[in-house]
Formats: sequence, C-alpha cells, structure tokens
Amino acid sequence: MALLTQKDLDERNQQLEERTPDELIRWAKDTFGERVAAISAMQTAGSIVCCMLGQLKLDIPVLFVDTGVLFQETLETRDRIAAEYGLEIRTLTPKQTMAEQIAERGILYLSPEGQEICCDLRKSQPLHAVADDYDAIISSLRRGDGGKRAKTPILSIDPKMNCVRINPLANFTNEQMQEFMETHHVITNPLHEQGYPTIGCNRCTTPVLPEEPKRAGRWRHLGPWSMYCGINATDVEGGTEGGIELSLDLIDRILGRETDFVI
Ligand code: SF4
Repeated sequence: MALLTQKDLDERNQQLEERTPDELIRWAKDTFGERVAAISAMQTAGSIVCCMLGQLKLDIPVLFVDTGVLFQETLETRDRIAAEYGLEIRTLTPKQTMAEQIAERGILYLSPEGQEICCDLRKSQPLHAVADDYDAIISSLRRGDGGKRAKTPILSIDPKMNCVRINPLANFTNEQMQEFMETHHVITNPLHEQGYPTIGCNRCTTPVLPEEPKRAGRWRHLGPWSMYCGINATDVEGGTEGGIELSLDLIDRILGRETDFVI
C-alpha cells in the first residue's frame, strides 16, 4: 500500500479540469472498476449525477443515506430515480431510530455541539460503515454553490472513508445545470419548487425567503447559515489533511502515470 495526499492530486486535477462530467464518470469507472459508487442526497445536483449514471449505464451503484428523518418527498424522489433511471440505490441507515437516539442522548439537533454528533451518527457513520467496499465515491459538490464549496476540486481525498472523492460537476455552472435539467427532464425533489433550495433532514431544514442565501434553511434554528453536516471531507476544515492508503498500482492509475486518460 502507498499513501496518496491531496497535494499529490494537484497536477491530475489540473488535467481533469477540462473534462466533461460524462468523461469524468467514465474515467472513474475505468480507474476504479467495481470499487466506485456514487452518493446522492436526491437534491438537484445529485439528481443530475443520477441522470448521467442512468444514461451511461456503467453499473455504478448509488449510496443514499436515509437518516430516518428525511422528508417523504426525498424518499419518493429516490424511488423514482431508481426506477426510471434503472439505478441500484443502496440505502444506508443509522444504527438507532431517532426515537431511540433521543431516548438515549436527548434532542441533539437543538444545539450546535449536538448537531455535529447527530450528523455524525445519522449521516457520516452509516457511510463510513461501507468504507471497505469502495476506493472512490462520485459526489455532486459544485463550486457554484459557494461557501466552502467554492474551491471544490474535481478529485479530493477522504481520509475517513479512505477513498477518492470525484466531483464531476465541480465546475458545472448554474446555467449548465439548468440547461441539463431542461434538456433531460431530470427528476428532481418537488420540495425545490416549494421554497427549499437545499434539503436535508426534516428536523433541520426550512424553506428560505427569496432574498436569503440558498443554505439559510439548513439548521436555521442554530443560527449561522453556512453549516455543513460533515459527510463531505472538503466541507470540513482540515478534512483532506493526511492521506489515504491505496495500492501503488491504483495510485499510478489515478495519477495517470501508467494508464493515460484517453477519451
Ligand atoms: S441534519 Fe439534523 S436531524 Fe439530520 S442528522 Fe444532522 S442534526 Fe440530526
């Protein structure tokens, strides 16, 4: 095994910057084979990635974390996407129901410190539980969403999952998103049309006013508008520090040292 750091990916990221999302998804399949999955929370960008996966027919499964307190519309969007795009969606769940968690620990999501623990228990840990199955996860983070996402690299490391995160939509603009959705009639969560620009758990998500930032409805009861759940390493301060351990052969393929990236 050898160590791969975020800095090791700098040159590769520059090379991949001009690639289209489809090309990046194909590259992910060529590079990681059966050990790549996508992850989607069934929000707009995640739905676009699912649509692309359905069109490409590469047999890449989709991970979906069901915290047990999601909106019904989100679950129905997942089911529609699985059925209509022909995708295998692997639903991951926390160890406890929310009722069991509250009985044991109290209502964690009512304080900033508790929110971190709750998101870890209900979002991050279910994902980390399948870390051994994958060397790469295709995510749908976009620089156009601003905040901590403004510098999202195409490839990043995720030390907690010991995997590479691939963001094929990293440099997709808002206009490209809109055009893709209209052209391909992408299945989207109906809550987006009901005042929810971003959607998480029903306990911690509200609609936003037209003049508010997009993420104003996330953890509104806790104050600041720029909080993240921590499931994405690049959203967390220092989240990509350290390195991940992969076989040298795989690192060579990721970095294009042996098998060059051919379109
Ligand atoms: S978004 Fe809220 S309810 Fe959901 S896991 Fe995080 S703190 Fe818990």
